[in-house]
Amino acid sequence: MADGSQARWRDNGEYSPTTFWGPNPDDPPECGRLLREIGVVGTNVTECEPDGMGCHLPSFGLKAAPFLEGQPGVFFFGQRHDEEVVPAFRADRGDPARRVRIPCFNDPAVQRELFARVERRVRSYDPNDVLYFSITNEGTITHCCSPFDYCSCPHCAAGFREWLQEQYGGLDALNAAWGGSYDDWDQIEGMTTDRAKEIFTADPDASLAEWFAFRRFMDDRFHRILFALRDRIRELAPGVPVALTGVWPPGAFGGQDWERIAGQYDLLECYDEVGEMELARSLCSRTDLMHTIPGRADPTHWDHTAWFAFIHGYRSELIDPFSSLIDRKTVSPAEHAPRIAGWIQPLKKMAAALAGFRRQDDPLFVLHSHASLVRKWVETELALDQDWAGREWSYPRKHETYLINEMGWYRLIEDAGRQFEVLSTRVGLPDIDGASKLLILPMAVALCDDDVAWIDRFLRSGGTVLHDSEVGRFDEELRFRPGRLPDHERLIRFEHDLTVYPRQRCETFEPLPPLEGFRPIADRVLPPAWVRIEPAKPGHFELTTFVRDGDERILAIQRNDARLATGQPFPDNERPPAEVTLRFREPARITDVLAGRDCGVTDAVTLTIDPIRATFLRVSS
Ligand SMILES: [Zn+2]
Repeated sequence: MADGSQARWRDNGEYSPTTFWGPNPDDPPECGRLLREIGVVGTNVTECEPDGMGCHLPSFGLKAAPFLEGQPGVFFFGQRHDEEVVPAFRADRGDPARRVRIPCFNDPAVQRELFARVERRVRSYDPNDVLYFSITNEGTITHCCSPFDYCSCPHCAAGFREWLQEQYGGLDALNAAWGGSYDDWDQIEGMTTDRAKEIFTADPDASLAEWFAFRRFMDDRFHRILFALRDRIRELAPGVPVALTGVWPPGAFGGQDWERIAGQYDLLECYDEVGEMELARSLCSRTDLMHTIPGRADPTHWDHTAWFAFIHGYRSELIDPFSSLIDRKTVSPAEHAPRIAGWIQPLKKMAAALAGFRRQDDPLFVLHSHASLVRKWVETELALDQDWAGREWSYPRKHETYLINEMGWYRLIEDAGRQFEVLSTRVGLPDIDGASKLLILPMAVALCDDDVAWIDRFLRSGGTVLHDSEVGRFDEELRFRPGRLPDHERLIRFEHDLTVYPRQRCETFEPLPPLEGFRPIADRVLPPAWVRIEPAKPGHFELTTFVRDGDERILAIQRNDARLATGQPFPDNERPPAEVTLRFREPARITDVLAGRDCGVTDAVTLTIDPIRATFLRVSS
C-alpha cells in the first residue's frame, strides 16, 4: 500500500522541466544559462563510471537527475530481447534455456551488483544538487509490453516455489486452487504461454491460474526489488525524490502494473502510450508526474501535449533531445527553443496559481483491473492464429485490447462534459454510497470477490453500473467463476464498441452513436454539471475543475483532439480557434488567469479557445 510519497512540485506550485544533458567540464557555461532562460531546471544523466557526468551540473546552475542503474542496466533489456532472445526462442521453443533473462533480477549476484552500483552513485552526489534520483529508466521484465515467458533460470524456479508456498501455504491448497495433482514442490515450473495456449484452445473457460501465477510471481519480484532500491536511496539521501522514469503502460507481460506502483514513488515519468496519463493522475494522485516530449514528434503535438499533460496534473516535461533546445556547436538557442519557452513560462505561472488546489471530478468511477487486462489479452491475442511471443515495442497501442477499450471510455466520458476517477481494489476502493453515482466497468472480465461484493454494494445503495463485457466471469487468478454479480435493474450493458471510439472521434467532430448513448445516462444519474460548454461548431473539449477551500475554483478548458496516445493524425492542425460559451449554474466572478482579463460577475462567458493552449478561468463565488 501507499508509503510516504508526495507530490511536492504540484503541492508547492512548481513546474520543473528537464532535458537530457551530461555536460563535460569544458562545455561553455553559456549552455547552462540558455537552458535556465528557457525554464529548464535540471537534466537527466545516464550515469557511467568511473566519473559521472552529472557531477558537473551544479557549475552550470542546473540540478542533476541521475539514472542510477545506468543504461543499459539490469532492468533495461530492449535490444537484447528483440535481437537475441526472441529469434533464438522462435528457432527452438522447447528449450528452457531460450527463456532465460540475462541479467536476471532474481539472481542474488545481480542483485548485489545492482545495489552496490546504486549506492555508489547516490553517494557520489551532494543531495542538494539533485532534482531526483531515478532508480531505472524503461525498466520492465521484458521489453515494454512485448509478450515473453521470462524467466526460466534456476533462481526464478526456486523463487517461484518459495513464492507459491507464501501464497498458498501447502501443496494441497495449491492443487485445489490450480486443479493440479503435484506431490512435490520440485515438480513445479512456471507454465509456459505455449502450454496456456493449448489449454485455452481446448477449452476457453479452463482455468489459467497456474500460468498466471508465474506471471504474478515475476511481477511481484520485479516490484519488490525496485521498492527495496527505493528504500535504500531514501536512507542514503533523505528528502531527495525517488523516481521511476520511462514508465511503460500496463501490459499482460512486462510494462508497469499501475495498481502496484500507485503511491510508491515520489515521481513517475510516464509515456502515455495508450492514455495511461489518466491512470497516473488518478491512481497516483499523491505522486509528482512528468511527461516526455519526444523530439521526433510533430512540434504541434509537442505543444498541445505539454498543456494537456499539465491539466492532468503533470508538473514537468522531459524535453528530449537536448538538441531541440540548444545548438551545441554555436552555443545558441535551437530552432524549437522559443516555442518551448513559450509554453514553459505560462505553465510555470499556472503551476503557481494552482498550488493548493485539488482536482474535482464528477461522481463517476472507472474500475481498472489488471487481472481483466491479462484475461482480455488471452481472449484477443492468445486466441489468434499467430505467434504470441515477442511483438514489436509499439505493442500496447495495437494489441492491448483492454487498455484501448478503457481509453475509449475515458474519451467518451470527457466528450460528454464529465470527468472521472479511476479506482482499483489493490489501490483501495473507497466506501461509496452509490446514490447519484455512476460506475463504469471496462471489460471487467476477471474480478476478485472483493470487487464483486463492492460493485454489489454500490448497486444496492442506489448506484448505476455500466459494463461492456460479462462481469467477473473469471476470478483474480483467471479461474472460471460460477457465482457472479446478480441481475439488477441499474446494472446496464452498454452495447457500443469502445475499442474503436478513440479512432472514430479523431475523424469527425459530430457526436457519434456511443456518445449519444452515454450522455443521457450520465445526465440522468449524475448531479447536473456545475458548468456546461456550448461550442459554436461541434468539437471535442475537455473541462477540468480544480478546487481550493470549498468555493474557489479554477476551470481548465482545452481542445481534446490531438492525442499522441492514439497514434492518429491531428485532424485540425490548421483549424482556427473555436468559439464556445460556458454556462455556469450560479453567477460568479470569472477571470481569465493567463490573459489577466476580468469577465465580471456572470453565469455565461463566451470565449475563443486556442487549438493548442488551454484556457484557465478562476471562478469565485
Ligand atoms: Zn531468472
